[in-house]
Amino acid sequence: MMLHGRLLTNVMKNKMKLSHAMCNYCGNGEETILHAMRDCPKAKVLWRCFKPMNHSAQFYTVDIFQWININLYNTIQWQGKGSWCDVWALSCHCLWSWRNKEMFEDEFVRPVYPAQHVLQMVEDYKGATTTNDIVTLKNQQISLIGWRPPKDMFVRLNTDGAYKEQVVVAVEDCYGEAKENG
Ligand SMILES: [Zn+2]
Repeated sequence: MMLHGRLLTNVMKNKMKLSHAMCNYCGNGEETILHAMRDCPKAKVLWRCFKPMNHSAQFYTVDIFQWININLYNTIQWQGKGSWCDVWALSCHCLWSWRNKEMFEDEFVRPVYPAQHVLQMVEDYKGATTTNDIVTLKNQQISLIGWRPPKDMFVRLNTDGAYKEQVVVAVEDCYGEAKENG
């Protein structure tokens, strides 16, 4: 969504005549996507904790396309916690969600230790993808499928297997009846 400019920042809302374009939190400038994600002092608090590796000179100077590019394809481990691309992507996710919660939820308070919060998400993400890999590996079996035409005078109904319980009963009934009647 960042890459496609789909985050509803104040700049975008301003184009739709729905809001002013300035950042609600710092007033330092217009709230572009890059401002909300990287340049706003609120975002910098988080980025400072991570001290992005290898590209610290570029990190705050490149445009949004380069910024996404240099971070999303950086798979180097960050202090043994996870790939930098995961840390970066989850940081962006948190920054945007915290920004929205601050705007729409009166009670919301940002985590006191934002970096720890992100790193915990990275840990959970790693755990979930590892479990998923194991499950996928265990359940993997190859079955060749194909479509066969029905016999003469029959109509074949193919579905994708998605169903609601009530509907399935009806389908089974119809099928049973059709079979009974030959
Ligand atoms: Zn700001």
